Order: sequence, then C-alpha cells, then structure tokens
Amino acid sequence: MPIATVNPANGETIKTYEAMGTEEIERRLQLAEATFRTYRESGFADRARLLNRAADLLDEDRQDIARVLTTEMGKPVTQARAEAAKCAKAMRWYAENAERLLADEQPADSDVKDSGASWVRVRYRPLGPVLAVMPWNFPLWQVIRFAAPALMAGNVGLLKHASNVPQTALYLEDLFHRAGFAEGCFQTLLIGSATVDEILRDERVKAATLTGSEPAGRAVASTAGEMVKKTVLELGGSDPFIVMPSADVEQAARVAVTARVQNNGQSCIAAKRFIVHTDVYDAFAERFTEGMKALKLGDPMAEETEVGPLASERGRADLEELVDDATRTGATVLCGGRRPAGDGWYYPPTVLTGITREMRIHREEAFGPVATLYRAGDLDEAVLIANDSLFGLSSNVWTREEADVDRFVRDLEAGGVYVNGMTASHPAFPFGGVKRSGYGRELSGHGIREFCNITTVWHG
Ligand code: NDP
Repeated sequence: MPIATVNPANGETIKTYEAMGTEEIERRLQLAEATFRTYRESGFADRARLLNRAADLLDEDRQDIARVLTTEMGKPVTQARAEAAKCAKAMRWYAENAERLLADEQPADSDVKDSGASWVRVRYRPLGPVLAVMPWNFPLWQVIRFAAPALMAGNVGLLKHASNVPQTALYLEDLFHRAGFAEGCFQTLLIGSATVDEILRDERVKAATLTGSEPAGRAVASTAGEMVKKTVLELGGSDPFIVMPSADVEQAARVAVTARVQNNGQSCIAAKRFIVHTDVYDAFAERFTEGMKALKLGDPMAEETEVGPLASERGRADLEELVDDATRTGATVLCGGRRPAGDGWYYPPTVLTGITREMRIHREEAFGPVATLYRAGDLDEAVLIANDSLFGLSSNVWTREEADVDRFVRDLEAGGVYVNGMTASHPAFPFGGVKRSGYGRELSGHGIREFCNITTVWHG
C-alpha cells in the first residue's frame, strides 16, 4: 500500500510520499532514545504547559486540519472538526490530571509494617519510547488518546500511522514541535506496515500500542511477545445495541442511526448489531429504517452531509461482500444494499434483517453504514445473541428497568455497557475491550498507567 493521500470522494491521488529509509529510521530511533533520557526528568507542570499549548494550537488549526482529515479519509467535515475539538479536550484533561493519576501510592500501614519497612511507595515511572501503530478512521483522535497520556507520563512516542493519512501524521509531529516539545518527544515514521516488525524488535522501543484490525493486532502482539514487550491492543468491534420493551423506542431508534453511521460507519465502537425485543421490534425497525433512509449521503466537504464515502476502495468492496453474502443466503434488505453510480467510494446506509449465524456479517465487523437487525424473545435471548460474537468492545442497552441493567452489566461480554445512550469515549473513562477486541485500556488513569514501570520502593 503506497503512502499517499487519495481522496475517497473521487479516487484522485493528491500526494504520494516516499517511505523513510533505514538511515532516517535509525536517526529517529536514536533521537527518541536520547530525548527520553532528558524528557523523563521533566516535571508534570512543564509537560502540562506544553500539552496545553498543543491543545491551543490544535484549536487554532481546527478548520484547516478538519479539511485535511476529510480529504484523506472522507469523514464529513463537521465530524472532522468535532474530532479535533475532542482531541484538544483530552490533551487538557491529561495536562490537568496526570500528576494526580500518577501520584505515588502508599500501601496500608499494617502491610508496610508487616514487610519490615519503615516506608513503602509505589511509583509510576515512564518506560521509554513507545511505538503507536494507528488507523485512519479517527486519524487525530486515535493518536492523541495515546500521545497525551504517554507524554504526560514522561514517555516519548513514535507514530506509525495508516498509509492513507500521511498528511495528518505529519501534522501531528509538527503540532507537538510547535507546542515546544523537544523534537524527539513525538516523531512520525512514514513507513509501510512491513517495517513495523523490525522497529518493534529494536531494543530502544520499549512497548507498543495498536488500534486497527485483528490481523494487524496479532502481528504486532506476536512480535512484541517474542521480544517480551508490553502491548495494548484496541481491535475491531461488533457492538450490540439492545432495545427492551420499557425503552423509549422513538429515542432509541434516533440514537441508533447516529450510533451506526457516525464516521461513515467506520468506527470500532459503532453499534453494529441491533437486537430488539419482539414486543417493540416492529416499531423500532420501522423508525430506525426511516432514519437510515433519510440520511444525507454525499460530498463530505459539504456542511449538510451526514454520511460521506468509505475511506478506501478496498473497504467498500469488503463491506459489499458482507452484504452480498448475507442477501445471497437469505437476509432481507430493508434499505440501501447497493452502491450508487458515480465516482467516490460511497455506500448507502443499509439495514438487513433475517440474519443467521452462518452469515459472515454475523461474525465479522461491518466497517461501514450497514446495520443488522435481530429479534429477541426475552432478555436471556438478547444476551445470548449479543455475546455470540468474537468481539467484545462495548455495548448499548435501552431499558427503564434497573433489573435489566443489572443483568446486562453482569452478563454482557464487553469493555463497556452504555445504558440509554450510545458508546462514546471520554478522557476520564477507561476504553477497551475483551475477546478479539483486544486487551489493555486507553484513557483515564488505567490508560496512562499502561505504559509505566510500576515500581515498588521499599525502605528499611
Ligand atoms: P489495519 O489494521 O490494516 O491498519 C491499522 C494500522 O495497522 C495501520 O497503521 C496499518 O498500516 C497497520 N498494519 C496493518 N497490518 C499490519 C501488520 N501486519 N503489522 C504491523 N502493522 C500493520 O486496518 P485496515 O485499514 O486495513 O482496515 C481493515 C479492517 O480493520 C476494517 O475493515 C476494520 O474492520 C478494522 N479496523 C478497525 C479499526 C478500529 O478502530 N478498531 C480501525 C481501522 C480498521 P498500513 O496502513 O500501512 O497498512
């Protein structure tokens, strides 16, 4: 895959980049290591000042960088601006909270005494250069949610971004430099995925985080495993969206549309499987399908556009194959299901029903605006369908019964349960999944501690 900006709205190649060669990679690895030696000694206040400055610069750049995002991966420009604003917020949140989240911990006095110590502290020390392998779907956010905590913890970052978002990748490096971070604190490596393995094997790289597909996660995790390096993986999802009879069906259907098509449907935490109690199934299906049909599909640069093109030709072909497999084997199309004529990698909002376990779309992640509808006889069946997935990222449940909520929280195999709302990440809450959705957590205190050397200091 060439490193290039190709506009998904018309297929035009705008700019192609040469991958960095061995010498340049070596220079950057050396710089990362050397910078870490001094940067790790900086205080929280200095790091926070720089990160807040980066947030201010990002706010100033919002209009322009949003257009770059839209040009590179096709999300509606209104959503690109919202993504930039969310990044600035997360940077400020970590600037303000990192010192508290990484404060020394003191074990209980009785345990300290029991160990024979006069005092014991647990200290969170940085690890060193961390490699971040990131995807194109939220080209700013995926990186910032790694970089903000990593930099506040005293680590330095090496970004291998997806090959189709090189301008965003270079913008991020420039952003941190302009904010005043030393050159080696955050560097972009313009490289293809085949080069990741050798970088991960380099002793100067201490850990890695990857957001993306399962095969990419498996490749990075196995090399890291061989090298005994810590990894955090945030892979795909096929989140359930469960609607129970006591729910506000009108509102659930409205939110369901957004939850499915946000980011042109290319979000790991998008609701993908809609599991509806039989008592409200027809009402929900009708409203949801109407909402999906009414969405405005078109030029992602236009302010009124709600769904733009998919990010790549391959991505659209993969999605089409999932839909075609389902319809060939008995699924019913309630809306969409056929690519429009003309340029660009557009695919219409689509609702499928009559899904069976044999269909690929039941098992695989539909990375585009395609929803599958399931009918459940009761709560137990809803949980069974929801958990009948290799993924376990997040989940959405709609009910007014607290007893239902207790059951869902107890039984759903997912890293999040969002009640009467859609899954959305927030800097203060942990984010990540179970099963094939990966392991480890991003954001919150859990996220910042993932790449720390948790050190016991025992004093006799
Ligand atoms: P990938 O997982 O292939 O890409 C994500 C990142 O991993 C990119 O930087 C990519 O680099 C890199 N990468 C890919 N393969 C390897 C490898 N073997 N070793 C090291 N790094 C690697 O995602 P795709 O863009 O191909 O999307 C495919 C599917 O992945 C989607 O349809 C979706 O199901 C899922 N996905 C999930 C995301 C999420 O948010 N959880 C985000 C993106 C995709 P390069 O671009 O150079 O190949």
